[in-house]
This record gives sequence, C-alpha cells and structure tokens, in this order.
Amino acid sequence: MIEVQNLTRRYGDLTAVDDVSFAIDDGEIVGLLGPNGAGKTTAIRMITGFLPPTSGTVIIGGKDLEEAPVATRRNIGYLPENVALYPEMRVSEYLAYRARLEGMSRAAVQEAIVSVLADCLLEGVSRQIIGTLSKGFRQRVGLATAILHQPDVLVLDEPTVGLDPKQIIAIRELIRQLGSQRTLLLSTHILPEVDLLCDRVVIIDRGRVIAEGTPESLRQSWQGEVVIRLEIKNAVAEASQVLAAVPGVTDVESAGNGCFELRCRPGSDLREEVFRLAVQRQWTLLELALERASLEDIFVRLTTGDAGEVVQ
Ligand code: ATP
Repeated sequence: MIEVQNLTRRYGDLTAVDDVSFAIDDGEIVGLLGPNGAGKTTAIRMITGFLPPTSGTVIIGGKDLEEAPVATRRNIGYLPENVALYPEMRVSEYLAYRARLEGMSRAAVQEAIVSVLADCLLEGVSRQIIGTLSKGFRQRVGLATAILHQPDVLVLDEPTVGLDPKQIIAIRELIRQLGSQRTLLLSTHILPEVDLLCDRVVIIDRGRVIAEGTPESLRQSWQGEVVIRLEIKNAVAEASQVLAAVPGVTDVESAGNGCFELRCRPGSDLREEVFRLAVQRQWTLLELALERASLEDIFVRLTTGDAGEVVQ
C-alpha cells in the first residue's frame, strides 16, 4: 500500500507539489495524470525516496519513508522517466550488475534474472548488447530492473513516452501483468493509458490534486451535456422538429443523410424515448448512440481552470 499525506515540494517560490494526499491499496493500479509541468515527476521522485519533500509523509507498506528510508525503498521498484541503462552491456550482464547493487547474494541474482527475463519477455535478447535494442525493449529492461528485487510496490514515470504504437501496446500489456501482483502507481499525460490500465486516477494540476476516482466515476460525476447520435434511413423533412420536441432535448443538429445530433439535458439518457418515437413514426433507425463525456473532456475541463469543485 502507498499512502501519501500532505506532500509538498517547493523550488524557491514555486510550489511544484502542493499538499497532495492519496492512498493506493494493495493490488491497485493508479494513474497520476496531469498536463506537462503539473508536478507528476516531482511527486514520484518524492514517493520513491529520490527527492526529499519540503513537508508531508510517504508511507509504503506501513513504513514511513523518512523514518526508515533503506527498508522502505527496498520495497519499491522505480522506472524513471528517462531510464539510464549501460548501452555497452548485455541485458543479463546489466541485470546482474543492478541486482548486485541491490545487495542480492550471488545465488539470488541468478534466480532473479531468470525470473525477470521471463516476466518481461526478454529471454530472447538476454545476450544482446543493450545499445542495439529497440526503445521498447530498452523499456522492458528498465521494467525488469525495477522488479529485480521483487518489490511489492512499482512506480513508473511516463512508461510509454517515446515508444511507437506497437511498442506502447506491448509495454501496456506488460505493465498490466506486472500490476496484477503489485501495487502500482504510474504517471502519465496520456488519457487512453489511464482508461486502459488504471483502476483509479488521481488528476493533478499545478501541483494540486483536482480530481480523484475511477475513470468511470469521473465520467459519471461530470455533469456535462449529453449527445445522442442518430441515423434514420430515409429521414422525413420534419424529423428535426419532431426530435426537438422530445422532452429533455435542448437542440437538434442535422448533419444530412438522415444523421442527427441531439443535445440533451445533463445526466439524461433519452435513447428509449427516441427509440419509441422512431417506432411510432415508422422510421428505420440505423444508429442510436449516447456519447458520454470522455475522460479527455473531463481532463481538459478540469485542467484549463474552469473546473468546479474537486470531483471525488
Ligand atoms: P512533465 O509531464 O512535463 O514531465 P511533470 O508533471 O512531471 O511534467 P514536474 O517535472 O514535476 O512536472 O515539474 C513541476 C514543476 O516544477 C514545473 O514547473 C517544473 O519546471 C518545476 N521543477 C521541476 N524540477 C525543478 C527543479 N529541480 N528546480 C526548479 N523547478 C523545478
């Protein structure tokens, strides 16, 4: 479990992380989401013990990072934003070197390497020089290094930045697998990543937590306008007026060819009413879809300063 309490970091006059608190349960994958400069890396470096906070507490697996730094950090695997590998080393050599730095015994090193090579699907490149690997495979080596000492907690800073779409899919799959046995915090500014990987999301902006919840709960609590997309085969001329008369519909836009967008009052779902109307009017419906607010809508709204209260 990770508990972050009132974490603050100032750089001179700038408060990069401002009174941030959240908790991550065992086995949970949580995304720390925020635009560039929001304070994600600063928060993560404090949580992993690489940067002392100005104030606040980090507790990992019940241990206070400040009071017991060595024991606490032993329980954390950390993949920094720019992972520094030794490009001239072979993959297994590098892993052995890192394992020994972790203070592992010779016997344990060998066992750990076999295990992480398998977990990170690196067996086929274990003898390859790191400098000759693709960026996606180098990222796998970074992940393998982070889990060598079998930590319960894994912290990944922007793990898919700079990868091509195919590599992103592969690394996300790997992260999902690694997260199934661990507590995992990952920072990202990529919204689909949160939706695909995370049980919960903590959104930060200008150093402060501005929203927290499951991606679905954030979507639900955002009471934005609802849009119904509709396609009618051989739509009649008066369809727009008929649709506009449905209680709850605030506006109807016709896109031609029988396609309509109905703007509806916040929080409503008028698909059933629209369906009944279509049956009554003998319209053949080719499409009837409700568009919910995407996480992107919420993110943009929250981080451009016109957010209301913090969403819980
Ligand atoms: P990105 O997504 O661009 O990596 P981020 O959310 O990780 O951004 P941070 O790197 O934590 O954000 O930076 C937060 C703020 O703190 C920024 O305004 C940054 O310029 C500032 N900052 C970070 N490190 C330092 C430092 N060592 N000295 C001064 N200011 C810093």
